[in-house]
Amino acid sequence: EKQSCGREIGSRILVFVRLRPMGKKEREAGSRCCVRIVNQRDVYLTEFASENDYLRLKRLRGRHFTFDASFPDSTTQQEVYLTTTAELVEAVLQGRNGSVFCYGATGAGKTYTMLGTVENPGVMVLAIKDLFTKIRQRSCDGNHVVHLSYLEVYNETVRDLLSPGRPLVLREDKQGIVAANLTQYRAYSTDEVMALLQQGNQNRTTEPTRANETSSRSHAILQVMVEYRVKDASNNVVNRVGKLSLIDLAGSERALATDQRTLRSLEGANINKSLLALSSCINALVEGKKHIPYRNSKLTQLLKDSLGGVCNTVMMANISPSNLCFGETQNTLHWADRAK
Ligand code: ADP
Ligand code: MG
Repeated sequence: EKQSCGREIGSRILVFVRLRPMGKKEREAGSRCCVRIVNQRDVYLTEFASENDYLRLKRLRGRHFTFDASFPDSTTQQEVYLTTTAELVEAVLQGRNGSVFCYGATGAGKTYTMLGTVENPGVMVLAIKDLFTKIRQRSCDGNHVVHLSYLEVYNETVRDLLSPGRPLVLREDKQGIVAANLTQYRAYSTDEVMALLQQGNQNRTTEPTRANETSSRSHAILQVMVEYRVKDASNNVVNRVGKLSLIDLAGSERALATDQRTLRSLEGANINKSLLALSSCINALVEGKKHIPYRNSKLTQLLKDSLGGVCNTVMMANISPSNLCFGETQNTLHWADRAK
């Protein structure tokens, strides 16, 4: 079965790569660009600035990757949103679930892509804006109700970013796994949302030694729920709900292992359980396994109904251009390659 856009319904995951621009500090420190993006798809890792023999790089292991789309550093927030997430917003308006993840090392551009800035709002804000536009175009009867939840998973503890306080307990009910007492903020327009999300982002856990800096081990999950009524075939009014989950993942630098054996040998080390569990779920989905190990972490439990099955899943790998991040970039690209 295919949708009009050509996206297959099933567990296929769309994988994108976004290269961020070189920072001023990086340039001043003499770092060179080691990433080339060609034809909006191919990503080449080069060791030397002059290295652009793509045919040769294609033959080397771990130097050439190709994705559904790869975004060069000049790509705007709007372009990223339109290519990766706009279709999911459309699906949510038809009562389906979907999720968009940003994966990558700390400093690679995940939060910029997801949240963005006031001048350059990211996917979270653009998705909500587009959602309200589409709802206005579709109906004027106020039939659609939009709720937002914004939560954090940090060290396997779930917290409400819209109402910080005690950790939330996950419990299972008819609808699946839910966080008890999580704030469901009723949103009426886009204007209020940027401030709300920025405030929520401020509430993310910070490492004690680096006050003001968001912990690289914190996952932030924005869930946008759209509820509406439709008449079914026998003219009964039924409620439908679609849910879009937008996830700014913890830094991947501590979760380099991609295969199960290495994962097990790392158990007990200071690694991110939720990030590893997500990798395991994605690998199981990609390999078409029957059993998907959702239960292994808080993150995967929370996203169980938005990952796999008939859901649309989008993975964005964020990478830095600096040669000082070569190893991390290669690991991120390798991970993204396995999610295809
Ligand atoms: P992460 O969340 O992955 O740790 P950030 O999103 O905080 O990384 O990005 C690190 C820095 O790079 C920030 O100062 C951010 O503003 C900047 N940055 C990231 N991506 C871009 C981009 N596409 N364009 C401009 N600046 C960016
Ligand atoms: Mg961040």
